[in-house]
Amino acid sequence: MGQTVQAGSASALRAIGREQLLRELSDIVGEANVLVSESDVAGYLVDWTDRFHGRVVAVVRPASTDEVSRVMRLAWETGTPVVPQSGNTSLVGSGTPDASGRAILLSLSRMNRVEAVDAINDTMTLEAGVVLEKAQEVAREASRLFPLSFAAEGTACIGGCIATNAGGTAVLRYGNTRELVLGLEVVLSDGRVLNMMRGLRKDNTGYDLKQLFISSEGTLGVITRAVVKLFALPQASYTALAGVADVASAARLLELVKNAAGPALTGFELMQAKCISRVGETIDAVSVPEGIEAAPWWCLVELSYSRDPGVNPLEAILENAFERELVLDAFLANSVKESRAFWAIRESIPSADAHVGGNLHNDVSLEISDIPAFVEEALAGLNAAYDWIDPSIFGHLGDGNLHFNIGSTPAHLAFENEEGIREIVYRCVEAHNGSISAEHGIGQLKRGHFLALKSPLELEVMESIKRALDPRGILNPGKLLRDDVCA
Ligand SMILES: Cc1cc2nc3c(=O)[nH]c(=O)nc-3n(C[C@H](O)[C@H](O)[C@H](O)COP(=O)(O)OP(=O)(O)OC[C@H]3O[C@@H](n4cnc5c(N)ncnc54)[C@H](O)[C@@H]3O)c2cc1C
Repeated sequence: MGQTVQAGSASALRAIGREQLLRELSDIVGEANVLVSESDVAGYLVDWTDRFHGRVVAVVRPASTDEVSRVMRLAWETGTPVVPQSGNTSLVGSGTPDASGRAILLSLSRMNRVEAVDAINDTMTLEAGVVLEKAQEVAREASRLFPLSFAAEGTACIGGCIATNAGGTAVLRYGNTRELVLGLEVVLSDGRVLNMMRGLRKDNTGYDLKQLFISSEGTLGVITRAVVKLFALPQASYTALAGVADVASAARLLELVKNAAGPALTGFELMQAKCISRVGETIDAVSVPEGIEAAPWWCLVELSYSRDPGVNPLEAILENAFERELVLDAFLANSVKESRAFWAIRESIPSADAHVGGNLHNDVSLEISDIPAFVEEALAGLNAAYDWIDPSIFGHLGDGNLHFNIGSTPAHLAFENEEGIREIVYRCVEAHNGSISAEHGIGQLKRGHFLALKSPLELEVMESIKRALDPRGILNPGKLLRDDVCA
């Protein structure tokens, strides 16, 4: 108790003891919203994968932009590190504090209001702590669609989705979060509020500053509010599971469906048959169609229409694919319930893998035409190095994004050989000019590889942006960039 909170750049900082810091935080957000007891803070200090653990002075829960601003001003004056956190579903440890115990964790969870839906402008204005699923529901109640969707949507929040530029299952049609954000409000590291809350689809007045904060993983500012795009609610959607012999056939099926369905193609996911079987074996609530073993890979295809075409267009498309011997077997969903059941399989793969344990996550992005060669080369490299690898490969093929996860039998071997596995996978990614993070970000997990693989000039520009916006280096230290960028 009473220890001095360390300062980053000593000169302009106000030295403050822990108790005084807690008092001043309580003055801003109320004592009930400054959590310090071990049991109250425990859930905030460990990431979703249970890999990263941290410590904090306190978890602080502001209820408004003004409170975030005053908390940040206090942090700025005292040089106190701040870790913004929303739903805490990051898969790369980006919202978990370090072990120093010097930071405050700023939880946006009380800022959970949807402020407005504008049906004419097709926009929704909402606070950063709104859970993604709630945003989808509010849009649906207004007969609109907010298309961002992924397995953690019941917990992940808008602020976190924006800070990580989340992708998910409908990127093919609607784009990543970056494409969905029109306006943003951000509290800067010194507490000033940068108001860019405009619902404009066209605005060519200089640099598009909001883009800097999208995917910045809490290192440049605290996102407090946003204006996001809405779309017409589809009146009909058609879903199928199509079994194919290999990844090259899946890519050719994607091309065929794109040509036949045009913009109606909403989702095109790829899954290894064994990922599906594993869901059937480990997740009681999800049932898997019989006969999945008929093909080693399966594509989950979804088309959606604002006006019901009357007949299921997937029937003719898949017939064509059968004739071309692209598809080995297929299941068509005959109802919304069956369609949801297909999606439940896809979305349960991470939980099924977690159930088995020992899976090393790789979230890679490649040009779609390079994916078959990438999978072949990476698997050949891994199999040559290790005879025990047990890959779990699935992902958003339509976006060129694979979750190229590597497990092992027995389960501990993959993590014991983490560096070797990542080196083989990332070498293949690099050879195809791909990216080591398609949608989960860098956080703590991938920082070393990111710093090693990103070009020196790209890193230099990123570091100068960090220094300009967070000169005292108080925002989310230990994530993304080098520790000494602001020293
Ligand atoms: C089962 C599962 C499936 C997933 N599937 C997908 C998927 O298909 N596609 C995909 O893109 N992602 C997926 N994810 C990861 C997902 O991107 C992130 O979990 C999510 O976007 C983060 O939202 P969050 O609210 O949980 O943020 P958090 O985990 O709380 O934070 C994530 C990062 O954002 C920062 N941050 C949070 N809130 C703010 C804020 N208000 N201002 C500034 N910075 C902030 C944090 O500091 C941290 O760096 C999945 C995760 C899980 C657990």
